Amino acid sequence: MPELPEVEITARLLDSALRGALIESVSAPGINALRTFQPPLSELEGRRIEGVRRRGKHLIVDASGGLALLIHLMSAGRLQLFDKLAGPRDRSSRLLVRVRVPDAQLELRLREFGSKQAAWVKLLRAQELEQDDALAGLGPEAWPQPPALAALLDAPRPLHAVLRDQHVIAGIGRSWVDEILWQAQLSPYKRGSDLDEHELERLGGAIRHTLGRALEHYEQTLTLPIPDKLPMPLQVHRHTGEPCPRCASTLQAVHFEDYVIAYCPHCQTEDRVLKDRRLSRLLR
Ligand SMILES: [Zn+2]
Repeated sequence: MPELPEVEITARLLDSALRGALIESVSAPGINALRTFQPPLSELEGRRIEGVRRRGKHLIVDASGGLALLIHLMSAGRLQLFDKLAGPRDRSSRLLVRVRVPDAQLELRLREFGSKQAAWVKLLRAQELEQDDALAGLGPEAWPQPPALAALLDAPRPLHAVLRDQHVIAGIGRSWVDEILWQAQLSPYKRGSDLDEHELERLGGAIRHTLGRALEHYEQTLTLPIPDKLPMPLQVHRHTGEPCPRCASTLQAVHFEDYVIAYCPHCQTEDRVLKDRRLSRLLR
């Protein structure tokens, strides 16, 4: 589940390896992955990679000649560098896009795991990039400096939903929202518009601290090639039933729509157990 820290470390590692590299050829074996037709992928051939960066949960590979590859990994995509000789035989994933970089003897591959085709790529002219549907509607970046939250969150929506809304704030998904709300000691069901000044401040600090610490962890532990399965330093998400790292109460899970929220009842909900909202639309 690549979110802001995972996409950011991917961008940093690829940027340091590929900046300035010549693109020999580009192909898109995963035919549905390429969402644009003009300009054609062949326009990238002979260009140089000017950098790899992140916007929200998207990766952007800037190329000379005013071209940019915009990539969304969705939940199961990975953008990885391989030795050119590493064979493409791979039953665990599908190859969506391949970029050959001869002077580095490397191949950049967009692969996707699982059965669902969801990751995508667009080749855009640099001047079209910011206007593209995927980027134009994004909210401000959650990190390194979270935006002023009071106005952004001032809606009667539960925090775990509004913080994952990329139009409100960009970069947070299902994993890190649990960690952030636990860090801030706020209920996932608390409404954004009900936060007082101190809670807003705590939440801003939790966003910065949680995402920043994850990124530090990746900086210290990851090198190329980026592994298929990133070792996410989660303390709450996926830890239901285990003791809370802060108070040792048992971490609980609650189902909301089609996913699971993990939280600590003692630290976050005044010892109340949250009700599933799979079946009920009642708010409390
Ligand atoms: Zn706790």
